[in-house]
Amino acid sequence: MQNEYQTIIQTMNDTMLKAGRTDSIKLLAVSKKQPIEKIISLYNLGQRDFGESYIQEAKEKILALDAYFINSSSINWHFIGPIQSNKTKTIASLFNWVHSIDRLKIAKRINQHRLDLDDKELSPINICLQININNEHTKSGFSLGEINPAIEQILKLKQLKLRGLMAIPEKSDDIIIQRQNFALLRRLLDQLNTKFSLSMDTLSMGMSNDMQAAIMEGSTIIRVGTALFGQRKV
Ligand SMILES: *Cc1c(COP(=O)(O)O)cnc(C)c1O
Repeated sequence: MQNEYQTIIQTMNDTMLKAGRTDSIKLLAVSKKQPIEKIISLYNLGQRDFGESYIQEAKEKILALDAYFINSSSINWHFIGPIQSNKTKTIASLFNWVHSIDRLKIAKRINQHRLDLDDKELSPINICLQININNEHTKSGFSLGEINPAIEQILKLKQLKLRGLMAIPEKSDDIIIQRQNFALLRRLLDQLNTKFSLSMDTLSMGMSNDMQAAIMEGSTIIRVGTALFGQRKV
């Protein structure tokens, strides 16, 4: 896995150069359906941001790693999967980031849980709003029409730190199409920052198959699973 890790970091840096970018970018290691040993290996290579999609699995891993590292608070845990209402409490208590906020109700619940947990002195949780960029029926996320009123409400929720947008575009192997979709998300972030006088700094976009296109279009967090860890367990 060391080779894969180095290759991805190299590709990331090369693509940043090619894009003429001097801002920063983060690699999120998507460890869903991957064993804990692989997380530890990557941690030992210096990786600190890990992404999970399934809450029960994530909880087990986070608690096990807390015990293993005495206190795994040096890991930044990102939740990137679909969110059911009855899971918001666990998400609010275990994660530093949530990329997959796809409706107002979920944002409100996470905000409230974070308030209820204030004995732990948790800082506001970092969130991205998931955008259904190609309006696919099978995908969750805010539609372009829903996003403005949602942001007005979300800005009132003080335990949430709105960092930016996330999308999983329609699958395509054509880099031109990949870039068009990512450019759409980038322009949307710019428009929203202007409209609401915000300084959202995060574009969570790009996976194993399209990370280069995403970096060319300004991604600040790429979420990479299989290219890093190999195939997931089913
Ligand atoms: C699984 C997943 C990834 C990683 O996908 P790979 O193709 O394995 O890199 C990224 N983002 C989200 C939201 C995911 O669910």
